[in-house]
Amino acid sequence: MRQSSSLKPRVLIETLGCKVNHYESQGLAAGFRQTGWDVVKKAPFDAVVINSCAVTAEAGRQSLQSARRALKRYPEALVALTGCEVVADPEKVLEIKELGAIFGNHGKKNLVAELTRKIFADKSRKTGSVAVDFSGELEIDLLRADSIRGRSRAVVKVQDGCNSFCRYCIIPYLRGRCRSLEPEKVLAECRELAAAGFREVVLTGIHLGRYGDDAGKSFSLTSLLLRMVNELPGLRVRLGSLQPHEITPEIIELLLDPQIAVCEHLHLSLQSASDRVLGAMGRPYRRSDIEDIFMQLTEGVGRVAIGTDLIVGFPAETESAFAETYALIEKVSLTYLHVFPYSPRQGTVAASWPDRVSATEKKLRAKQIADLGRTKRDEFAQANIGRPLNVLIETKKEDKGEGACWFGHSRNYLPTIIPISENMTQFRAGDEIIVTPRKWENGRLLAEKST
Ligand code: SF4
Repeated sequence: MRQSSSLKPRVLIETLGCKVNHYESQGLAAGFRQTGWDVVKKAPFDAVVINSCAVTAEAGRQSLQSARRALKRYPEALVALTGCEVVADPEKVLEIKELGAIFGNHGKKNLVAELTRKIFADKSRKTGSVAVDFSGELEIDLLRADSIRGRSRAVVKVQDGCNSFCRYCIIPYLRGRCRSLEPEKVLAECRELAAAGFREVVLTGIHLGRYGDDAGKSFSLTSLLLRMVNELPGLRVRLGSLQPHEITPEIIELLLDPQIAVCEHLHLSLQSASDRVLGAMGRPYRRSDIEDIFMQLTEGVGRVAIGTDLIVGFPAETESAFAETYALIEKVSLTYLHVFPYSPRQGTVAASWPDRVSATEKKLRAKQIADLGRTKRDEFAQANIGRPLNVLIETKKEDKGEGACWFGHSRNYLPTIIPISENMTQFRAGDEIIVTPRKWENGRLLAEKST
């Protein structure tokens, strides 16, 4: 039975996990809208879609919990579970008896049609068969998001899948091998976004640095970036996560040039800076490759934001290996850290190894290195006080001390608030303005519009 009195059925999409998964949810939302649904956040709902994540055992558990919670909270709605956790743990998924549809990543392309069929054809969501598809590989040019995304910054998925099989990672088993969206299609999507008023696109993928590998190197991330810079003037481009050995001298040049629309922001996927640990993880770069990237970026110190992901407590991480990572992070100009205590993921090579680092020790290491990350972030933000920054306005906020403010991020990814003065009433979310930061407080810059 339909839950809303409006003519259109209503769907809630809940997303867990990475930017690629969020992008695919936007693709689902576009499909629902095109098929005559309202994509909404407030009940009543005719359907609830949980787009799940399985990158860690905990993410998988939370995904299943979200599905159970939705079934309990919205007993009349059709609840569908999709995404990586469906591929990773089919038995556990099947234990949730009341699901109306179960689709892995491959089946996402059929999800809208299936839910539409059920909602319109079935008298109740409780009747009819449950659609089940556990496979993992979604074609790269399907499930594209549209330009109605409600933000000033749009994520564009240019790559999916991974060929690397790092020993701790389940993703290649859940999303298949490396696939890249042809440059022409990326450019077309970006043009549409620019025409719809977006000022910034974030290029993302499961293994972005391998963009073009599947096309026999007829194009690459570097060649895509160069085309974007030349063919899409005025559109800011932000890069998703890359590994050190994937960063070419051309990418470094683009990052260092403030006149170019590529944002001064690099997210390095490091995981460790100890050769012993990197070797055990099956990562293809070494500490010297990491140091080399920072050498090449010396000119951008204080200006180019460089973030990283780290895993602490991997089985090969002895105390001295951790100390090596800590020392390198302390030495180089990193500006923020995402730290994850290692937890074994069933189905990976490392899951069969003895987990040698105790939970207490992992927690301690995570805290030590996260504290260092906070110090480095503060130093970087302080170095930007007084420097003119280009900030993309994202939302309006009421700030306790400052009153009405714009909130946005600078090209070098510093969260910034700008009190709205009388001469700023013409600005809207999606505009880029030049500001002068005055202080760094509570994890954001307080700035004023430059005259
Ligand atoms: S590169 Fe390694 S960590 Fe990244 S998705 Fe592939 S296997 Fe996982």
